[in-house]
Amino acid sequence: MNELPRIVIVGAGLAGMCAAERLRELGFDGEIVIIGDESTMPVYRPALTKQFLTGELGFKEILTAPTHDLDAIWRLNTQVSQLDPVRRVVFLPGGEELEYDGLIIASGVEARRVPGAMKAGSRVAVLRSISDSRRLRQALSGARDPIAVIGTGFIGCEVASSIRSLGQNVVLIGQSKLLMNNLLDPGHAQRLTELHRRHRVQLQLGTKVEDWMATPSRVQLRLSNGRQLDAAFVVVAAGSVPAVSWLRDSGARLDNGVVCEATCHVAGLEDVVAAGDVASWPNLRFDTKPRRVEHWTNAIEMGRAAAENLLTGRESATPFMPVPRFWSEQHGLRLQAAGMPAVGMKREPIDPTTPGGHSLTGYYRDNELVGVIGFDNSSAVLNYAKSFVDKALTGRAGQARPGDREPVSQRDARSGAPKPDPRSAFLQV
Ligand SMILES: Cc1cc2nc3c(=O)[nH]c(=O)nc-3n(C[C@H](O)[C@H](O)[C@H](O)COP(=O)(O)OP(=O)(O)OC[C@H]3O[C@@H](n4cnc5c(N)ncnc54)[C@H](O)[C@@H]3O)c2cc1C
Repeated sequence: MNELPRIVIVGAGLAGMCAAERLRELGFDGEIVIIGDESTMPVYRPALTKQFLTGELGFKEILTAPTHDLDAIWRLNTQVSQLDPVRRVVFLPGGEELEYDGLIIASGVEARRVPGAMKAGSRVAVLRSISDSRRLRQALSGARDPIAVIGTGFIGCEVASSIRSLGQNVVLIGQSKLLMNNLLDPGHAQRLTELHRRHRVQLQLGTKVEDWMATPSRVQLRLSNGRQLDAAFVVVAAGSVPAVSWLRDSGARLDNGVVCEATCHVAGLEDVVAAGDVASWPNLRFDTKPRRVEHWTNAIEMGRAAAENLLTGRESATPFMPVPRFWSEQHGLRLQAAGMPAVGMKREPIDPTTPGGHSLTGYYRDNELVGVIGFDNSSAVLNYAKSFVDKALTGRAGQARPGDREPVSQRDARSGAPKPDPRSAFLQV
């Protein structure tokens, strides 16, 4: 199986590590070099807004170790600046060129910056890495003014929830009138907004920051609704951008991520696959439009599928067609999604909210259910996730063929054989 003597993986995050694990499981005995520009091995990023931020889990507990010895060369603190696919080299600091026979792109995303924020200096941070989360933790100790969080997506909402659980004041600022409005149906977005309000998160919604001013002890924000705010620290949670600057001029197609074929092979390049947050690919289970999926479970499954398909080769590779799954936790509420809610035009409750607060919303394309989101309703969401696995293989996407690849963890779950990947926290109901 050693036709590819050296496989280079750019990105020492979850997708990169899972790709390396899979290469070894499949018997690849060449050299694996994993290059990452952060200083640590992969960490469990979901904890950075939750248990690590609140102090419930420490650094060692969120380090995500490989499941077995990878016999890989880890080059941390090392940034890849360029790719030359003709000479098959990636460029490293100090003019070093590293040759590859196969390349796995797993460079993830970066937090989006907002104009003006950085002039407010050291009291402003994004939240992507362990050092970002540590900085916020430090800022929380002894803060007299509230922490301001800009952005009402899942990162902003989780940060606000964690800060309140520590008993400190937080102001959540967003342009939409309701929290997580882009994903949730209006009823659930309203319910989530009320939940935050009940937990005394101060909400400044339907507004945006117009001006920033740093003073020695705080950041002063002027909002478009005329309000002025003093904040001890500001977290900018304004979404993400794919980490693809090193791929410019490489011939890889870049369009909100690195564009891949259904098999994870990067369009236009030979012996190059991509996985995780950075990869935009058509999930034929749902449709043919390339999309990125920024979920923990997807980084595991796509890392593994990309590695398999790299070894298999383009001609015989099979499409990667997972059922995406995602979870979030806020003020004790567990929010879970399965399928592709973003593909569904119509949103309708399947189970209305029970007195216990459980509920489920369906996302429909025409009359076909393509995604569900549950509030405190793990078992229903998991059942739907399983039903998507069964249904969509013969479903409307049409391009799927018998034998097309389901993510390994789902295959295993169905056969009842080896257990799903234990790092799949989605399954922790
Ligand atoms: C704070 C936070 C909370 C989250 N919570 C949840 C959650 O509750 N549920 C959920 O499903 N998902 C959650 N996610 C998303 C999930 O963590 C990601 O989908 C997953 O970590 C993606 O893994 P990845 O390997 O694709 O990317 P990453 O983990 O980002 O790894 C990519 C690595 O590549 C490095 N890199 C980039 N460019 C270069 C370069 N040129 N040279 C070298 N290295 C480079 C990056 O620094 C990074 O270390 C959360 C994410 C964050 C940030």
